[in-house]
Amino acid sequence: NNIVVAIDGYSSCGKSTLAKALANKLRFVYIDTGAMYRAVTLYFLRNNIDTTDTGKVTHALNDIHISFKPSPDGVRVLLNNEDVSDEIRQMEVASNVSTVAAIREVRQAMVKLQQLMGKSIDVIMDGRDIGTQVFPHAQVKLFMTADPQIRAERRYKELLPKNPAITMAEVYDNIAKRDHDDTTRDESPLVQAPDAIVLDNSYLTPDEQLAFTLGKIKP
Ligand code: C5P
Repeated sequence: NNIVVAIDGYSSCGKSTLAKALANKLRFVYIDTGAMYRAVTLYFLRNNIDTTDTGKVTHALNDIHISFKPSPDGVRVLLNNEDVSDEIRQMEVASNVSTVAAIREVRQAMVKLQQLMGKSIDVIMDGRDIGTQVFPHAQVKLFMTADPQIRAERRYKELLPKNPAITMAEVYDNIAKRDHDDTTRDESPLVQAPDAIVLDNSYLTPDEQLAFTLGKIKP
């Protein structure tokens, strides 16, 4: 049987940093499910899809094809074969993604695709509902958390080079809003799986969190 490592947690906790490092070390495929919700959001924004209109949402979902492509600078996200990896990191997408991710039809389509992606190969999958909904029987489950102020500072530093106009307050508010939306929505709210290992990385370096996790995977 193939192995699934599920990493869930709050926004900007370093899930993808850990997931990439683990995938590299273990030679597993990394699947960034947040990127999938972001790609759907980008499509909705570009095509002015009314997110309150279920018919329009379902129709749009049929026209959306999301895939991942390995490249020298990491895995790229493709929306209908267009590389949107950079565009989905912009603030406009970040500000709208938690609304789109709360739509039942969107979640159903993404969960189905994610289950297919992790069906037969060893994967590290990160998101909000991997250990609870997508792969409730994942062999390893991690739940990541960190101090919101520290998370905002990390994300701010990451976004600044490509978004010189961005402010710290804007980044902090976006993280706080997404935490709120993700934990309070009706469809698969963000919750810790009872069998998940909790990892608070507020004061851990990327190397330390990798060592901690590898210790849990291969004791
Ligand atoms: O992981 P990332 O911050 O890129 O995810 C963007 C947004 O997508 C989250 O704030 C959340 O609303 C949504 N998401 C989700 N379920 C997942 C992954 C992401 O609802 N499995």
